[in-house]
Order: sequence, then C-alpha cells, then structure tokens
Amino acid sequence: MIRENVTALLKELEGGNVYHERVTLVAATKTRTPEEINEAIVAGITDIGENKVQEFTAKYDDVKGGRRHFIGHLQLNKVKYLIGKVDLIESVDRDELAEELAKRSQKANIVTNILIEVNIGCEESKSGYPLEEAYEAYERLRGMQGLCVKGFMAMLPISGDEQYLGSLVGKMRELYDRAKAQDHNIEYLSMGMSGDWRLCIKHGSNMVRLGTAIFGERHYPAPVESAKNAAPADGAPENA
Ligand SMILES: *Cc1c(COP(=O)(O)O)cnc(C)c1O
Repeated sequence: MIRENVTALLKELEGGNVYHERVTLVAATKTRTPEEINEAIVAGITDIGENKVQEFTAKYDDVKGGRRHFIGHLQLNKVKYLIGKVDLIESVDRDELAEELAKRSQKANIVTNILIEVNIGCEESKSGYPLEEAYEAYERLRGMQGLCVKGFMAMLPISGDEQYLGSLVGKMRELYDRAKAQDHNIEYLSMGMSGDWRLCIKHGSNMVRLGTAIFGERHYPAPVESAKNAAPADGAPENA
C-alpha cells in the first residue's frame, strides 16, 4: 500500500505547483517503523521528516537514505542531537532556538539549513512567528553564522473555508517571494499535509509533508524501540 501511495502521489506532483515549480514530497514519518519508511524510500521518497528528537535518533541508522528533515517543536536541550545529522530543520519558531542552533553549528563547523515557521492561522496551539514579524525574523536569522535560511514553513488551521485557507497560503507565498527576490538561498515554502496539500500547491507551496496519505492512519504511541543512541523523551531533564 505504501508503494502504491507513493507512486500515485509522485505522479500527481509531477506537474509541479501553480508556478510550475518542482514540489518536494516529504514523508512525515512519526509513529512509522524504519521498515515502513524504507519501503517509502524504495518507492521514490527522497525526503523524510520526524517530529520528535527521540524518534529521529532512534530510527536514524535503520532508515536507509533520504534527506532528513526535522518538522516538530524543538526543545533547546535537544538541539545537540540533531546537529550534523539533519538536512533541514523546518520548525525554527523562535530566536532562542535559532541562536542555540547557530551556536552549536558553529562549534561543529557546519551550516544547518533551516526554515522559519510561521503561525499563519494565529493559533494558540501552534508555534511559529506571527506573520507580521516573520520577515524581520528572517532578516535576523539570516545574519546568524552557522545557519542558512532556506525558506518558510507553516501549518494551516482546520477550516472548511477554502478561500480563507487559500488566502493564508497566498500570504505565505508573498513572504517567500519577498525574501527570495534578494536571497538565492530561499528555495522552499513548506505547506501542505494530507488533508490540504492540493490546496497548498494550488496557491504556491513547493514542499508538502505527508503522513497519512503515504502510510495510512496513524496509531499512537510510537513504535520506537529503546535504541542505544535514542535521545531522552520530551520533558526529560536536561542532563538526562
Ligand atoms: C504529522 C505531520 C504532518 C503530516 O500529517 P498528515 O496529516 O498525516 O499528512 C505534516 N507536518 C507536520 C509538522 C506533522 O507533524
């Protein structure tokens, strides 16, 4: 089933987005086993995204290939587990986190690619910069040594109003275009999950993160084994 889903999705994405840009399909792999993820990679998935540092590190060696994205809320004390192991951190939602990433990246002599997360629906349950502050945040983060800002990420609120949702993607696209006009590092506008990705690419997203559409319904809790190199669970003490 995973193979059929990936094949169909890649085929549908072949036409690109509304601007005929290539759309990157990221498999959102929370709760999925390395076997399931490897099946998706064999079927053509090039990019995978984890939400939790613990899952990211536990599965890291067993997943064969794929550019590694981190797409969840990131605690400062977990940053050290990702440095040098991640191709793109999509969820940089506050200056404090950017500073920690920059500091650790410099120390390791590497540059970490990031997206700036925007709370486009102004939802209390979601993190990210408010849209009005996002461009200024971009200018600050862009200047941080050790970081390379590659674009923006956002999650749409739940709503049946497609016109409203389309306008929110449009606002994100304006932000992306404004940055891209003078910064060749800007490449990605990451918007779209299983329920709304078609709408998102119709309004200018060029990266979608799909879980359910690839793997089927999720069952919690995560099937993570106690791998030796796993990071402590969220909420664990900093020195654990
Ligand atoms: C889980 C998740 C997705 C994918 O969700 P689906 O609805 O299963 O496609 C995308 N982005 C983020 C940040 C996620 O946590």
